[in-house]
Amino acid sequence: MPTTPSTTSNETSALEIANAIRTRQHFVISSHARPDGDSIGSQLAMAFALRALGKEVRVVNADPAPGPLMAFPGVSDIEIADRVEGDLDAAIIMECSDLTRTGVAGLDQYFVINIDHHPGNSGYGRINWFDASAAACGELVYALVGALGLPLSPEIATHIYVAILTDTGSFHYSGISPRTFDICRECLIAGVDPVLIARNVYDSNNMGRLKLFGAVLSAMQLDATGRIAIVYLDHEMARAAGGTYEDTEGLINLPLTVKEIQAVVFFKQIEGDEYRVSLRSKGNIDIGAVAKEFGGGGHKNAAGCTVTGAVDGLRKVFIDKLERAIDVLTSSHPDVLTS
Ligand code: 5GP
Ligand code: MN
Repeated sequence: MPTTPSTTSNETSALEIANAIRTRQHFVISSHARPDGDSIGSQLAMAFALRALGKEVRVVNADPAPGPLMAFPGVSDIEIADRVEGDLDAAIIMECSDLTRTGVAGLDQYFVINIDHHPGNSGYGRINWFDASAAACGELVYALVGALGLPLSPEIATHIYVAILTDTGSFHYSGISPRTFDICRECLIAGVDPVLIARNVYDSNNMGRLKLFGAVLSAMQLDATGRIAIVYLDHEMARAAGGTYEDTEGLINLPLTVKEIQAVVFFKQIEGDEYRVSLRSKGNIDIGAVAKEFGGGGHKNAAGCTVTGAVDGLRKVFIDKLERAIDVLTSSHPDVLTS
């Protein structure tokens, strides 16, 4: 028997959005460019919920879903476009601290409902539901499904579980709470098979991806203290390894499996001297604040930004910032890195 999700302390926001949904019929759901598991999971859980209410829904993203997620229901129906037009009643934006993060133009012409858990959300919607305590945006969707009075169908539960599994880095990152596990428990009761999901998400690589991981990790550098790993990828390396940029999803987490490594910087060449930078850290090291200094953002342990410059210089700048972020913590709380 599917269970109906119970509403949480976010009850008011969820109810306000539920009311806005009930009075509207045609929806577009979008999320950030280069979507991840939480984007796709939150969007599709929402889409299945709206369709269960008899609503018409388009899911539109600037970039395709990561390959391993294509196995999940509805993912192959996502429209890839850089603009949305047409007669729609509302745009539900998930996981975006700003509307421009979608990479999709035209969304601002609709009644925008902003649902997010990233610190620094700019409150761009007509309704804004922002909860930085959620381990994944999928947690908010779960509450919304409950506020809409819908049961957790197997499809909705699958997508909420994928959102949480991936955005917590398989239950590695901070932000996980009893609520996280309560929701996962309800997802399992609704029919989710966690083994099957983990196998689809993590064990469906192609050989190019594995070779690309090998090439990038072989070229990994460490800072002088051995606590910061720097990984780098340009188009030439990707071509030589037979992989694509999409294949790097998850790669950044591997250096953190080394005990001494506390933070990782991943430079991915976009074009010429322009680099996409992904940052990850352990414990209380706040790399979200570092990303923000470079015009990006994210969470304490997972963040990103885009920078321009010679990569050798950029490496030094980021190592310097991260060493400081680590030193601030270790000088005030010597045990903080192991907590
Ligand atoms: P990733 O390294 O996987 O691209 O991003 C890690 C986290 O940081 C994600 O939660 C993502 O939403 C956030 N993030 C990455 N890049 C940016 C950025 O340029 N701006 C903001 N505001 N957040 C970012
Ligand atoms: Mn997220």
